[in-house]
Amino acid sequence: MEKEVRVRFAPSPTGGLHIGGVRTILYNYLFAKQNKGKFILRIEDTDQSRFVPGAPDEGVNYGGNYGPYRQSERKKIYRQYAEQLVAQGNAYYAFDTPVDLENKRNAIPNFQYNQATRMHMRNSMTIPHEAAEALVREGAPHVIRIKMPTYENVYFNDLIRGDVAFDTNQVDDKVLLKADGMPTYHLAVVVDDYLMKISHVFRGEEWLPSAPVHILLWKYLGWETDMPQWVHLPLILKPDGKGKLSKRDGERLGFPVFATEWIDPKTNEKAIGYQEIGFLPQALNNLLALLGWNDSTDQEIFSLEEMVDKFSLERVHKGGAKFDWDKAKWFNAEWLKKLSATELLPYVTPMLAEKNIRPDMQYLSTIVDLVKERCVLLPDFYEQSFFFFNAPQLYDMDALKNKWAAEKDLFFNDLISHFKQTENWEAPQIERVFKELASAKAIKIGELMLPFRVMLVGGKFGPQVFLIAQYIGKQETIDRIVKALGIVT
Ligand code: GLU
Repeated sequence: MEKEVRVRFAPSPTGGLHIGGVRTILYNYLFAKQNKGKFILRIEDTDQSRFVPGAPDEGVNYGGNYGPYRQSERKKIYRQYAEQLVAQGNAYYAFDTPVDLENKRNAIPNFQYNQATRMHMRNSMTIPHEAAEALVREGAPHVIRIKMPTYENVYFNDLIRGDVAFDTNQVDDKVLLKADGMPTYHLAVVVDDYLMKISHVFRGEEWLPSAPVHILLWKYLGWETDMPQWVHLPLILKPDGKGKLSKRDGERLGFPVFATEWIDPKTNEKAIGYQEIGFLPQALNNLLALLGWNDSTDQEIFSLEEMVDKFSLERVHKGGAKFDWDKAKWFNAEWLKKLSATELLPYVTPMLAEKNIRPDMQYLSTIVDLVKERCVLLPDFYEQSFFFFNAPQLYDMDALKNKWAAEKDLFFNDLISHFKQTENWEAPQIERVFKELASAKAIKIGELMLPFRVMLVGGKFGPQVFLIAQYIGKQETIDRIVKALGIVT
């Protein structure tokens, strides 16, 4: 029988949710949905800190049969496995004090606790076994380290990278259980993936060097046949391709790297997220999915359902994906065009309410449809539409007054009377009245359009000006012309 697909996102909650993490969540989710599997959220908090939520089937705050899902609450589970490894000879107790280790690091450049050095340290391989056990019994501070084998190759298959091999001589004796009794990530991740029956491990490529340690642990604990498939995802790179996109790059290069706002508890520094800067969730998912995957065609816009349908590990690239901020914004602009006014209202309404604009929903829908094509980020919506709800307070005086002359003054005064008599207040009719009056007065239409626009919206922006007049209404249009004439002359 095929093994049930069970995947997990296992963040260490030590900072904001980086977009690389969001992409890992997304690939986990797509893969789980596609295979009718389960997606689990597990908090790897053996180093302690905070936590950011996702949308899983099982996990912290979601329940499930394989809990608890927070590693710090699973402490007693791990010790027995660490002890089993010691008893089997695959791990050992190490009693070196922090001072001992510090001295070694100072004395030997790039000191590593490994096969070359372990016999010069204080551990259960250098002191008699009974003495070591007595020390542990008496509660002497100690850690448990894996005993990396000498001259062995660890081979494994990665669903993205293919066959991978590691020389065990190059890997140090990682700590498995810390002096406080907490497991390290290396022990906890293996024990938890086993007990939670994880079938596929999706994680960033930065974890690849840890894989040999994990694979040996799967083997030593006797669980090799249950070992998950490995899926190491390509890195998201800085825009210039030089290295991994880091938390600090966002601030340096002027775009967010976190999904949502993150305030560093130590420095109180605030980093704005994709949500706050005005990305639609659909756009963020879409752009992250494409940072590392495509469906082999030129298609770039995918809904979540479509991605569930088309996602495939064979089409995830091996190489890192360069982050491109302009391209990211392009995805958002495309999604703004794609979504209906009704779908956009939940994002737009609270944004306008913050500015004390609470329009009728029917009217707002019409306006959303009219201006969404001109927006890139959600806050652009306000800039592109505020004049539909309020008369402008500020005017671009240069644009308004440019080549202003008595004849223009007369034109707009006459326009007011003509508008008053206009019955059918719709853009084509308004345009006709405007143009007929201009030609009767022999003024070039081009000379009049800009001042008219500035009168209605305050500057050189907004959609087609006769549509603006139509939607704000006849009386409001007239009032705005009157007000502007008062300023210009
Ligand atoms: N806690 C690790 C991280 O923060 C998880 C790595 C893994 O998925 O194995 O990325």
